[in-house]
Amino acid sequence: MAQIIDGKAIAAKVRAAVAARAASLRARGVAPGLAVVLVGNDPASAVYVRSKTKDAREVGIATFDHKLPADTSQHDLVGLVHRLNEDPSVDGILVQLPLPRHLDPEPVIEAIRPDKDVDGLHPDNLGRVAQGKPRFAACTPSGCMRLLAEGCIDLAGARAVVVGRSVLVGKPVGLLLSNANATVVLCHSKTRDLPEEVAAADIVVAAIGKAEFVRGTWIKPGAAVIDVGINRMPDGRMVGDVEFATAVERASVITPVPGGVGPMTRAFLLENTVKACELRRG
Ligand code: NDP
Repeated sequence: MAQIIDGKAIAAKVRAAVAARAASLRARGVAPGLAVVLVGNDPASAVYVRSKTKDAREVGIATFDHKLPADTSQHDLVGLVHRLNEDPSVDGILVQLPLPRHLDPEPVIEAIRPDKDVDGLHPDNLGRVAQGKPRFAACTPSGCMRLLAEGCIDLAGARAVVVGRSVLVGKPVGLLLSNANATVVLCHSKTRDLPEEVAAADIVVAAIGKAEFVRGTWIKPGAAVIDVGINRMPDGRMVGDVEFATAVERASVITPVPGGVGPMTRAFLLENTVKACELRRG
């Protein structure tokens, strides 16, 4: 039976460390600040933005909310990003995704000053992760790495199989694992024999977006399993991308859904914001 890694408890430790760093900045007259940009009325995005600003305030990060109408133009959104880039009280800029369909997220993300890109989505920041010299790694991948560290998983030489190659999760997780000397296999929808790849893994990171897609029987006994997936079932339950009930019997450590990677993603936004403030003004 695997040890279940408590993402909520570890995220609370990350937040406490961030709060201490924010307090020490404030004591020197520097107030870390996060600008949160929300375009349109998507209810899920509004919930995410509310929880991110609440988290930030709780650790002593000032927040600047920018709510824009759904019909905001690309030009106006990029214009706001440019103003936030120049605003000295703003250390981090977060543009909540997805944007309304008429807006292209790429130029918006690329408009963010890389040293204020606390989501770690700017190509400059992803490139630095690829070079093994991260400034801000994206929040979810950073959270996955911290969970592995807290699970005392030895990464050097381990075979890590990442399922999913999105720019947001799978690719940066693969790069961070490789930077930590794991031997990385990055799987995707065209991978020929996924069960065989997973069965060879000492570490499995699942970031697919399909409920319980990775079967518990695929997991090598003793493997570490990080489940990034968030899938809402018709009965309202939230499940991950890994079949937890069977995987927990075989893995050595495993993250639950909810309560695993999710809280870490939120905590690393705060960590990146305070780091941005330290780097620029600390
Ligand atoms: P994307 O849809 O961007 O990427 C999914 C990836 O899974 C793609 O690379 C895709 O392959 C791969 N994939 C799809 N089907 C298969 C298959 N049958 N076999 C193997 N690989 C497959 O999703 P994200 O990376 O953005 O998110 C993944 C999951 O993580 C989602 O459930 C999302 O909700 C969750 N998530 C959770 C977060 C958290 O904080 N816990 C934060 C961010 C995301 P291909 O490239 O070939 O299409």
